[in-house]
Amino acid sequence: MAIRTILTFPDPVLRQKAAKVTSFDDELKQLAADMAETMYNAPGVGLAANQIGVLLQIVVVDISEMEGRKFITLVNPVLSEGEGSMVDEEGCLSVIEYTSPVKRFRKIKVSARDLDGNPLEFTAEDRFARIIQHEVDHLHGKLFIDRISSLKRTLYKKKLRKILQAEA
Ligand code: ZN
Repeated sequence: MAIRTILTFPDPVLRQKAAKVTSFDDELKQLAADMAETMYNAPGVGLAANQIGVLLQIVVVDISEMEGRKFITLVNPVLSEGEGSMVDEEGCLSVIEYTSPVKRFRKIKVSARDLDGNPLEFTAEDRFARIIQHEVDHLHGKLFIDRISSLKRTLYKKKLRKILQAEA
């Protein structure tokens, strides 16, 4: 396993759409293992392949509320039957120094494949549903800051410019 570099906004790769995975091989399993390692090292609770510059539809989501280091890998995930709504604070490993309340479905149906290509279908709710919606957005080139007001987004961009200037 290896820790990969996480790309951060405004890296244009984060705006690209990931392609469907077609071969469920050892390389894919290695990628998932690296993604999990990178996520826990950050530390974060979810990671999409786009965030490490790999444009494939694969996400890892931490499911270890109490046991530690247990995660689920979703390949080619599709969300449907969104129900209800919830607003909660969200952040992203690719959006530094920022969190904001974001509105999401409270409940979603998830269809995906596992690392062997077997179909996975389940219903996710609450925090788990939020993380999955956030990660699947990444696969479509979308970030949580696209789901906040344009004023807030402008303010964040200004703040980020200052941070990056201070670092340079
Ligand atoms: Zn994110």
